[in-house]
Amino acid sequence: MKKTKKPVRKTLKARKPAPKKPARKARPAPRPKAPAPGRSADIQFTGVPMRVERTSPATVIEWPRTLVHHHTYGLLSPFFEGLKKGVLRATRCPNPTCEEKRFWLPPRADCPDCLSRMEWVELKNPVIGEVFTFTHVEYPGHGIEISYPYYQIDVRIPGAATVMKGYLIRGEAKIGMKVRAAYRTKKPTNTILDLYWEPVE
Ligand SMILES: [Zn+2]
Repeated sequence: MKKTKKPVRKTLKARKPAPKKPARKARPAPRPKAPAPGRSADIQFTGVPMRVERTSPATVIEWPRTLVHHHTYGLLSPFFEGLKKGVLRATRCPNPTCEEKRFWLPPRADCPDCLSRMEWVELKNPVIGEVFTFTHVEYPGHGIEISYPYYQIDVRIPGAATVMKGYLIRGEAKIGMKVRAAYRTKKPTNTILDLYWEPVE
């Protein structure tokens, strides 16, 4: 009988009380190796061990652990790639019998009216819109990654089937004011925050 290597087992040792540190960066759990054909593998722990804050007078662990969320932009990826390059990309229905001839922003992968796969159109800069309505946000919810207070504005863009939400980078919002699309091309966040609006002076 062939000898097999014993799988190395990791033991979870309680650490000494750790000094206060900023939250650790989460790292993806290692993927377990597939067992050799005809052989079943031992169950492996694939998570990240809990950080032990103290063991006395009782054990305290850090919970929740930080999770990495892998989020795909899927068919809408060209929109986000465009923002980094300083262009606004919308989608339009290519079906000639579809009633909706205007473009959609934020883009839709499929036409909400006839379900055709949409095609991409690139808007020519400068993209000038008009504030349809706005909210002065003084207390945003958790997770807002811009400073506040700020003006969340709903922008009407000529030729668009939609009124698009965004934020005003400076100044005071007023209904009917003209705004110009601008892009965070330096140090982009790779989120919708890479598109913002500035007043047209
Ligand atoms: Zn359509």
